[in-house]
Amino acid sequence: MPSYVLSDRCDGCQGREPVCAQICPSDIMTLDPEHNRAFNREPDACWECYSCVKSCPQQAVEVSACADVVPLGGRVFPQCDEDSVTWSVQLRNGVNKQFTYPTRTIAEGAIAPYAGKPQADLSKIDQAGFFTTVGKLPTP
Ligand code: SF4
Ligand code: SF4
Repeated sequence: MPSYVLSDRCDGCQGREPVCAQICPSDIMTLDPEHNRAFNREPDACWECYSCVKSCPQQAVEVSACADVVPLGGRVFPQCDEDSVTWSVQLRNGVNKQFTYPTRTIAEGAIAPYAGKPQADLSKIDQAGFFTTVGKLPTP
């Protein structure tokens, strides 16, 4: 189910580095400079990771749904919120289904990655164990 870009929604990230191109681990999302629209230049090499689908600010990227997930002619697309992602599945008979899943367990921006760590002493930057180890390094 490789991704594809809806050209009527894509705005080329308004002149900034396209988000979809930045995030693609397969380096296949790229911008057509002539039309200022992104496209998947190599669908066969798509990892189907959905990173571009979830990160596009215009919701301009969708995936080709195959028969074992969505019947032929259906669509599947996500809506990312601050703490959840909702997948909308549109079946070809007109039935819509939505599935919402949490994407984080703490509030955005609330993480304190250095909490409980000692203050870094830059005068010891060349010493083994700088910052992450308090006291002497254990020896076997
Ligand atoms: S992230 Fe979305 S809006 Fe931006 S270039 Fe890619 S498809 Fe277009
Ligand atoms: S689904 Fe993943 S691998 Fe495929 S184009 Fe999007 S970001 Fe790249």
